[in-house]
Amino acid sequence: MFCYHCQEAKKNIACDTAGICGKKADVSSLQDLLSYTLKGLAFYSAQAQEYDLVTLKTDRFMAKALFAMVTNVNFSPDDFVALIDESIRRRDSIAKKFRAAFQLKNKQEYNQTIPEAASWQYPTTDQKEFVSKGESVGVKADFELLGEDIHGLLECLIYAAKGLGSLAIHNLEIGQEDPELYAFLHQALAYTLKPEHNIDDILAMLNKSGQLGLSAMNQLNKANTETFGEPEPTTVHLDTWDKPGILVSGHDLQDIEDLLAQTADAGIDVYTHAESISAHAYPALKKYFNLVANFGGAWQDQKTQFAKFNGPVLVTTNSIQQPKKTYQEKIFSTGMVGWPGVTHIPDRKPGERKDFSEIIELAKQSEAPTALTEGQFTTGYGYQALRELSDKIIECLNSGAIKKLIVLVGTDGRHKERNYYQKLATTLSSDTLIFTAGDCKFRFMQHDFGDINGIPRLLDAGQSNDYCVIIRFLQDLAKQMGLSDMNQLPVSFELSWFEQKTILMMLALFSLNVKQLRIGPTLPPFFSENILTLLKDKYGLIGIDDVENDIAAIMDAS
Ligand code: SF4
Repeated sequence: MFCYHCQEAKKNIACDTAGICGKKADVSSLQDLLSYTLKGLAFYSAQAQEYDLVTLKTDRFMAKALFAMVTNVNFSPDDFVALIDESIRRRDSIAKKFRAAFQLKNKQEYNQTIPEAASWQYPTTDQKEFVSKGESVGVKADFELLGEDIHGLLECLIYAAKGLGSLAIHNLEIGQEDPELYAFLHQALAYTLKPEHNIDDILAMLNKSGQLGLSAMNQLNKANTETFGEPEPTTVHLDTWDKPGILVSGHDLQDIEDLLAQTADAGIDVYTHAESISAHAYPALKKYFNLVANFGGAWQDQKTQFAKFNGPVLVTTNSIQQPKKTYQEKIFSTGMVGWPGVTHIPDRKPGERKDFSEIIELAKQSEAPTALTEGQFTTGYGYQALRELSDKIIECLNSGAIKKLIVLVGTDGRHKERNYYQKLATTLSSDTLIFTAGDCKFRFMQHDFGDINGIPRLLDAGQSNDYCVIIRFLQDLAKQMGLSDMNQLPVSFELSWFEQKTILMMLALFSLNVKQLRIGPTLPPFFSENILTLLKDKYGLIGIDDVENDIAAIMDAS
């Protein structure tokens, strides 16, 4: 096993016997094999795009399979065996059609060299055989051949594709699709199989990933606001109530609405967990009186907190950890999430709500949650709410009442060095305005940040995906101030990275040509020293230092 997909890779090198996330070696090998077979599918599908032979079903499959490999989404060997099998069947079907179309057009057979990933076959669908094959095609298989610089950049491209796959599926859940994003997924994976690569080409593809990632986040944000209303600044309770409840973790707002509609008159309260706290700000969700509070901290606290919830827990996207015996019977997955032995709620049928009756019945027999935290937090600074503050913010920037705009976004995790973000946020001087998105805010959400001339110093846009509204807002603010782009603002980007979606957030900032980006708590392990130097020179990408030094650097930067 060799996995360095995420920030929690052992010793910031790689998980090599079992994942810190709970991923076992066999699942890691199955994921490696799935990456390999998806590249094989993409070898043909990227070329078949020219002949209009790639169906929407194959596009969706590609996105779904990539999403399944995002950190903390799916740990089920059976699911990966099925995905590998389907990828090969799709590859062979598209290869046949492509070869025929090629021959018809060119009056000769397709006779290019076929990479092994595009031709590998197996006698039977057997988990053990798949695991064994996965061991031979893992992350390190072509390390020597490619060299550490190209290898690391190509891995980054694959992780970006996984992040894009997850955004494509979030969008699909709410009825949105982007043909350009789908087409890119095939092209990016096919590119990794090319016999030759160069750094400039890969950087261009990473740039494109960043653009598409930002565009997919904007598409999702637009769909969410059109469906559930424009988010409003909303005070969320962090305590517990006296009725039994259902806890929802993850990102999917449509799942939350389906659940609220089915529980509204059932005497069951609904609580959000981690990034789903953003649900409280949407008018179409907050109108339900039984959406009562947020329970617990960020995703990594679930093992100590889920049992205390007492009722069932629904995990909708990437935040599942190995369930403890104390709550195993009460945890449910849905969408692409999976854990062996955890009950899975099937997809909604067209035109119907997802059926959560099994969870609701369990909730009715449960006790009310045990109090964990108390207090409140304000979220819901979506695009409109931020725009309403523009004039005041400009006034404060011009008068010097605001010296810096700090974009502090991303995901929380187990690493103890992540306390850096709590210390950073709470130590920044009172003339800084802090924009947050994602669950890195859980470490400091109960701090009293005060305000600057009536503007709350902490403005939370919602989920990590919603960081696109902060970017959009800063771009508008720059325009309003007569500046050429947002990099002319006194802005500093602090990215708390964890997994493949936060890698996309980083790439989105690269595509916007940022000049100062601090990423932590560690630098991505797949980037070599040479590549880190290159990214530092090009985008000002640096790691974190101690808080005092970093604050001094942030405040000094022009
Ligand atoms: S996803 Fe992260 S924690 Fe899990 S095995 Fe890979 S590097 Fe380790």
